[in-house]
Amino acid sequence: MPNGRNGGARRSPYLFIMLAAVLLLVLIFFAMRAMNAWDAYEAAAAVTPVPTPTVRNIAVTPDPNLVTYTPAPSPTPSYLSNGSKGEMVTRMQERLQELGYYTGVIDGQFGSGTKAAVQNFQRQHGLEADGVAGVQTLGLLYSDEAHEMEANDTLEGDIPLLVNASHPLPEDFVPADLVTIRSVAGEVFIYADTSVQGVREAVEHLIEMVNAAKADGVGPWKIREGYRTLQAQQSIFDSRVEAFISDNGMTRAQAISATRQTVADPGCSEHHTGLAFDLNADDPNTAFVDTAQYAWLMLHCWDYGFIMRYTDDKTDITGILGEEWHVRYVGVEHSLKMKELNYCLEEYVDYLINEQ
Ligand SMILES: [Zn+2]
Repeated sequence: MPNGRNGGARRSPYLFIMLAAVLLLVLIFFAMRAMNAWDAYEAAAAVTPVPTPTVRNIAVTPDPNLVTYTPAPSPTPSYLSNGSKGEMVTRMQERLQELGYYTGVIDGQFGSGTKAAVQNFQRQHGLEADGVAGVQTLGLLYSDEAHEMEANDTLEGDIPLLVNASHPLPEDFVPADLVTIRSVAGEVFIYADTSVQGVREAVEHLIEMVNAAKADGVGPWKIREGYRTLQAQQSIFDSRVEAFISDNGMTRAQAISATRQTVADPGCSEHHTGLAFDLNADDPNTAFVDTAQYAWLMLHCWDYGFIMRYTDDKTDITGILGEEWHVRYVGVEHSLKMKELNYCLEEYVDYLINEQ
């Protein structure tokens, strides 16, 4: 008889139900834990940023043939012109000075003295002499092709340099030994343009002359013009022609011949020699011919190597109307002789040629 079994079988339904209930509770407990864990994972995943992929630094061994390459210094900004300032202008002035084209102050300011130097450089290198230092001009300036200024000694020889309508200067003519007048004369003069230049020997005599006038109580003295480039002369000439056409209703041919009465053709101006200066009493209310400065000059300029180049009584020979303010340096030996003979430069040069 299966007593034990039967007895056990009688007890077991209670035990089974209890075990099943416990098992069920355990399952529910784990199921709830699992659900909580899932929710927690989801919540955590929502705020955890996606990790950024790490960038690997790739080690490259430098090729010595490649890393030694250094780009050539570029002369840009693309151009420098009147009014430009700064380091590029300073460098250009230094280079122009090194080659003999620039004699002014190295100040990084592109003024008319710098422009004249650029024009001379351009002219002597076959470039258009516009005085604007563009890529072409700067490229040439810093290259091995750049050569020193080939200047003309305006004081050499036994006969003073004659420049007039029938004796033009060569196109690439540049006077030797140009100096910025102010750098030599300081405040001896008043300057219409502080960068105005002249040939050193002439400037030194001009200073001596004006200091003597001041010692006689005659002053002040203003310098209006000195050395003038071919291009500067061209623009003065052209603007005078245009003024005659627009203001006086002249034809172009009439305007050109009227202009030639007072303005030399480009290449035919004495200002291009660096030996001629236009003086002024700095008195806008009085014509120079009526000033004490002019009266003093007429008497004494000869003693300092200067002549009154254009006077009314010689207009038929010089072709230029009287310019009382315009003095020309010829050297004392010549100026004293010219005063004695009362010759203008054209007459005097003829005289010297016939003498020799
Ligand atoms: Zn003049």
